[in-house]
Amino acid sequence: MESLNHELKELLISLGATVVGFADVSMVVKGDIAHLKKAVSIGLNRRLTDRTIEILEDLQKVVTLFLRKRGFRYLAIPPDSSKRSDKFISRLYGLFTHKIAATCSGLGWIGRNGLFINPQYGPRLSLATVLTDAPFEPGSPIEKGLCGSCFLCVRYCPANAINEKDWSIDRPYEELVDIKRCEEYRRSRKTISGKPNCGLCINICPFGRKILKEVYVCQNTG
Ligand code: SF4
Ligand code: SF4
Repeated sequence: MESLNHELKELLISLGATVVGFADVSMVVKGDIAHLKKAVSIGLNRRLTDRTIEILEDLQKVVTLFLRKRGFRYLAIPPDSSKRSDKFISRLYGLFTHKIAATCSGLGWIGRNGLFINPQYGPRLSLATVLTDAPFEPGSPIEKGLCGSCFLCVRYCPANAINEKDWSIDRPYEELVDIKRCEEYRRSRKTISGKPNCGLCINICPFGRKILKEVYVCQNTG
């Protein structure tokens, strides 16, 4: 339903969302959440800090209120769900990630660095998702990587953790990056605050570099 998409997207953009997409995720959702076949994907052009998580959660509340008022069911997946120890959310996150909603909605693809890449903002969006049974018109899914002839992150990763494979819907993005190597390197480069540090594969990506506002450190590669 185009008007439903338009109304919610306008609202979220007016409240600060950078990009908003709608996806058909019926092929992915299973079990307890199988009835929630559509997803609203929200991207914010900020590093995933505590403040970013707060902003994304506020935007998710706007979505859930919008859906509740219209009688639809929904489930908001926390922006930082990969780090939550809560059992239900952990199980859910294994079945569903924000990257799936974002690629299915056509907002971008998974780059050779294993991160979500938007053509305009590159790997510099923090994502959140709301699953729902509302009849949103889905965008055209992107099903393979569009990095083209760029291999910058592969060439310059100091840990040699990024292989040259292209992502596709049939290839799990976990295969793209040797997470163990990346983590070992990042741990060896801890900041003064004790946090693991690198992020070169985010900062070097040519997509969205012109509008780079801040230097990124790697939040995750999973
Ligand atoms: S964060 Fe650094 S070490 Fe890890 S994959 Fe990216 S460039 Fe390589
Ligand atoms: S640096 Fe190049 S190869 Fe790596 S994710 Fe960005 S576009 Fe893809």
